[in-house]
Amino acid sequence: MTKNCVSVWNNCLLTIKEEIHEQSFRTWFLPIVPLALEGNTLTIQVPTQFFYEWLEEHYVGLLKKAVFNELGGEGRLNYSIIVDKGDKKNSPLTVNIPGKESKKKIIVGAPTEDEKSSLKEHQSNLNPKYIFDNYIEGDYNRLPRSAGLAVAQSPGTTSFNPLTIYGGVGLGKTHLAQAIGNSILKNYPEKKVLYIRSDKFVSDFYDAIRFNNIQDFNGYYATLDVLIIDDIQFFGGKEKMQEIFFNIFNHLHQTGKQIIMTSDCAPKDLKGLEERLLSRFKWGLTADLTQPDVETKMAIIINKLREDGMDIDYAVVEFIAHNVDTNIRDLEGIINSIIANSVFLRKEIDLELVKKCIQSQVHEVDGEVSIEYIQKFVANFYDIDIALLKSKTRKQEIVQPRQVAMYFAKIYTKHTFANIGEYFGGKDHSTVIHSVNTVQNLIQTDKKFKAKVNEMKKKLKLKTV
Ligand code: ADP
Ligand code: MG
Repeated sequence: MTKNCVSVWNNCLLTIKEEIHEQSFRTWFLPIVPLALEGNTLTIQVPTQFFYEWLEEHYVGLLKKAVFNELGGEGRLNYSIIVDKGDKKNSPLTVNIPGKESKKKIIVGAPTEDEKSSLKEHQSNLNPKYIFDNYIEGDYNRLPRSAGLAVAQSPGTTSFNPLTIYGGVGLGKTHLAQAIGNSILKNYPEKKVLYIRSDKFVSDFYDAIRFNNIQDFNGYYATLDVLIIDDIQFFGGKEKMQEIFFNIFNHLHQTGKQIIMTSDCAPKDLKGLEERLLSRFKWGLTADLTQPDVETKMAIIINKLREDGMDIDYAVVEFIAHNVDTNIRDLEGIINSIIANSVFLRKEIDLELVKKCIQSQVHEVDGEVSIEYIQKFVANFYDIDIALLKSKTRKQEIVQPRQVAMYFAKIYTKHTFANIGEYFGGKDHSTVIHSVNTVQNLIQTDKKFKAKVNEMKKKLKLKTV
């Protein structure tokens, strides 16, 4: 089989991936594009000079090893560095610079739009579907939305730094935070924006400790122009991590970089967060998202239906807005189910169909909550994919929601342990017993956890419609 640059580089990546933790791998290796294989020389393209220097400083040994594995002792590595001259008319020209271990080849010229966006998309983690255009404005979100727009216009230079958005589950925190990020990238394509959920930040941080990689971790965050951290409530009680975040925060803030955070409660109510961190949050603006009023909900429904090419009777829209009063995520779930039913059953969207959808979405059987509803609720609450609750993954960020969902299934339904196990991807009844016990123990020992479970209980019971 003939080797080509892509297959050789992919094999190198396999070796590299084994040796470093995921965050570093994603940051420093995934953006690399293999360009050519000439004889034993592999040419890879790196996005910036800084990137090249970082690789040479921190990963030269690892790269050598990977190249050696693939191409043997004669293997050589060439770097191509994209130098953005901001001049799209000039075709790239190549400059060779002799290096010690390897030759650097600098391509002078602007990266194509595709190259730029693929790099940006990869680095930012932003979901392009969350934008201001589809973020409906109402009384309930006027302040956070306008603050967000101001930040998007001039990141780092308004007094809204940090900008903290807080509000209950499903009210649009993630949408707004990501819309700000997307808008910044649109206004300032050269800015380095990162969106990260705080539990991911925490697990990356612990990985960095485990793999002795804190330097890399810090180094990476120090290069950002905009840091968006979603759901900072997960930082509670993690002191060492808060210290690192404190330093990253200070560094970014002092250098005029923008920080955007979201939280499920007001910063002052964040449990287990150090005072000095809390006082930093007060430097900027804290804005809350409340429950949307009926008019705003109607606007959201109409907009969502239009996006899907649907048009429905005003009275029906009003009925939905009045009858779904949990949060916007639930509202969207119901709209999707209405659309799906109308398409599959080839039925007009009328009140009858809407009522049916609202009822089936809630899954309530004789006043008892169904396991499917609990799963949906818990997945929403933790903002994870419902399929993960039924999967085998042992990741901490999934294990706890899964245990909580099993616990609710036990206390709110009449199903047996074995039966509940079936609903969670065929888990053993002993797994369910263990989960229920774990949650019960945690409720006794962990106040923050207890508060969270109580909040969920309240919401589960409050679910109206
Ligand atoms: P949170 O992060 O607060 O739990 P999300 O940002 O995930 O909530 O919002 C839940 C869903 O509701 C998302 O699909 C989002 O696009 C939608 N949504 C929230 N607020 C609005 C709004 N003002 N206009 C349109 N869609 C919204
Ligand atoms: Mg969210």
